[in-house]
Amino acid sequence: MAGTLIQTHSLGFPRVGVMRELKFALESYWRGDITSAALQQAGQDLRHRHWAVQAEAGIDLIPTGDFAWYDQVLTMSATLGNIPPRHRKNGQPTDIDTLFRVARGNSGDSAPVPASDMTKWFDSNYHYLVPEFQADQSFSLEWRQIIDETREAVALGFRVKPVIIGPLTYLWLGKEMTSDFDRLELLPALLPVYQQLLQELANAGAEWVQVDEPALVLDLPASWLRAYEKAYFQLQRSPAKILLATYFDALEENLQTAVNLPVAGLHIDAVRAVAQIKPVLDWLPADKVLSIGIIDGRNIWRNDLRKSLLVLETAHKKRGDLLWVAPSCSLLHVPLDLTPEAKLDHQLIEWLAFAHQKLYELATLNRLLRGNGSTSDQRALLASDHAVSSRRTSGKVHRPEVNTRLRGIEQSSWKRKQSFAQRIVEQQARLALPLFPTTTIGSFPQTSDIRRTRLEYKTGVIDEATYRSRIQAEIADAIKRQEALDIDVLVHGEAERNDMVEYFGEQLAGYAFTQQGWVQSYGSRCVKPPIIFGDVLRERPMTVEWIQYAQSLTNKPVKGMLTGPITMLCWSFVRDDQPRKTTAWQIALALRDEVLDLEAAGVQIIQVDEPAIREGLPLRKQQQAEYLDWAVKAFRLSTCSVRDETQIHTHMCYSEFNDIIAAIADLDADVITIETSRSAGELIQAFENFDYPNAIGPGVYDIHSPNLPEISNMIHLISRAAARIPVTRLWINPDCGLKTRAWAETETALQCMVKAAKHLRNQHVESA
Ligand code: GLN
Ligand code: ZN
Repeated sequence: MAGTLIQTHSLGFPRVGVMRELKFALESYWRGDITSAALQQAGQDLRHRHWAVQAEAGIDLIPTGDFAWYDQVLTMSATLGNIPPRHRKNGQPTDIDTLFRVARGNSGDSAPVPASDMTKWFDSNYHYLVPEFQADQSFSLEWRQIIDETREAVALGFRVKPVIIGPLTYLWLGKEMTSDFDRLELLPALLPVYQQLLQELANAGAEWVQVDEPALVLDLPASWLRAYEKAYFQLQRSPAKILLATYFDALEENLQTAVNLPVAGLHIDAVRAVAQIKPVLDWLPADKVLSIGIIDGRNIWRNDLRKSLLVLETAHKKRGDLLWVAPSCSLLHVPLDLTPEAKLDHQLIEWLAFAHQKLYELATLNRLLRGNGSTSDQRALLASDHAVSSRRTSGKVHRPEVNTRLRGIEQSSWKRKQSFAQRIVEQQARLALPLFPTTTIGSFPQTSDIRRTRLEYKTGVIDEATYRSRIQAEIADAIKRQEALDIDVLVHGEAERNDMVEYFGEQLAGYAFTQQGWVQSYGSRCVKPPIIFGDVLRERPMTVEWIQYAQSLTNKPVKGMLTGPITMLCWSFVRDDQPRKTTAWQIALALRDEVLDLEAAGVQIIQVDEPAIREGLPLRKQQQAEYLDWAVKAFRLSTCSVRDETQIHTHMCYSEFNDIIAAIADLDADVITIETSRSAGELIQAFENFDYPNAIGPGVYDIHSPNLPEISNMIHLISRAAARIPVTRLWINPDCGLKTRAWAETETALQCMVKAAKHLRNQHVESA
């Protein structure tokens, strides 16, 4: 097997399992219900199954190292011996609990410590744990998981290609914990460990190692680009052949550097950046492998095989056996298998391909390309043609009235009638909120009762009336608890929602939902992104009844709670047959109808969450302004038609917002609640450099950590914000929704939060 030609490979495979087996094993382990041996077993079963699936599909090189207990960047940190000192347990070697301490701040076997920061992996909705760097730190090959798993796969007879994160992308993704050094200075200390790792992977049986350097598709400072040359010059002595993998965008001005690095092969993304095939073909030395990522690893559409063949033809003529074909990136970002999706519309199924199907497409494409396609490959080609044409003409996709309406939007729809300064006076007159008003982000604990209610309704076990009364009971309970806590602006708790997008998508035309289309978001968290396949249309109100009911139970204002157009877009699989902007604006119009219905129903505050706005940002600076322009317009299109006295809130989390803060201000939401606590005031710093014009609630505690927040920390954070933002514009809230927490901890934390707010209020009154 080792001698045969390599023509196809996969860059990474989803690890959680079609039934989310890894998620459930992890959570049982964290609860203490299963042993670490049982968890190890569950992981091993998944790896074995996934290797077999890929080999069966006809993939020549199978990835290892793409399995991770929590996150592949965290695995890499552990491999390199880069575990933050606070997560190490006095002198003991790194074990699986160490990983969980870094990720969760707590592993049940030691005192809680703050978790590492989590942030989005490039422009995806996958979150990685940000590596932490200290000045003069050292590295060593510490955690042997990738090596062990490579041996494991080799022992089973698979021809494998370990996947690791390259040294520069690894450094790029991390952050300095003190400001007295530049993490790029750590490269010399890092490289010997990479050398050793490559050596050991070769010893384990790997002929090739895939070294991921997606940072090469970013706008890199010159010093970083030069460092690539140094690093790979040093790594070229490795006995394993290096396939340098880039993805998610074009190499652009980094192309010359990339093609000339002393590695054995280069992988490029030809889905996001098909135009780079030509220059790469021109410049990549003739003896190197060129891997072309032609199957979309970020989206679920079936490949247009005929078009792909055309794209690959020249490359094949020029490179012959030195051309490899692959998915554009790891398949981590798409669901695993389409086969269980019996409930999807048949027409739609014909247009789709999940990870499993993509590998078959790849193998078929490869055979057709090399001229050894079978009759069944020919049939697959015709089926692909058929899918392409039926999608292009389907009435399920194209609804002319939607775009007619879009074209008719008047200028006034993009702008509130008055400025914030004028609006806030009217809002305050109506709402009469105290200084430092308290609120939460929307969701309350999703108890097993709630989940059961939703499931029973979905599966027809209970009728609609029973469902409604049970959800109403949950709402009533949430309202009662918030009143007892003395929170100022209440929420209904989102018991009717499974996640932020599904609930809305299910009620909008143009959206479809899978049964098992899970994609890992972080750790054990998976999301089931809907599929936007057609023009989007709201047929009836989506949330009005719930909010009205909640409001009927209290004299305090209850916020209407919607998911914004950009988040609806970013957390879905979107159409690849029209610009993202058009889809976003279609959703925005549907949300505008909902906002206006809420307002008409007497709702005084409407929150439109946009946690994903930063993640939609193109990776390249050059394309960012255009995106921000249409993204901001989408938000404004959905929110700006309300009256002055209606207060618009938005919420954002999980990202570096510093670089788009002007666009965030441009949304012109009256209040923004935003995550700050996990990245220790970094965000506040952004506000120190930028005069945010409207009101803001910097999240005062990290809801992702099971640790009880300290009142003094919350007061400190707000005092710091108050040095910059007028106190009349500050809100007090957690940094995100509370659906993943339990009620007991939620109530204790919120008690502290309300105490902190009251303390600040008193302090302010005394000093006034
Ligand atoms: N309103 C949502 C909630 O509270 C917001 C979630 C989020 O920001 N990701 O759950
Ligand atoms: Zn959030």
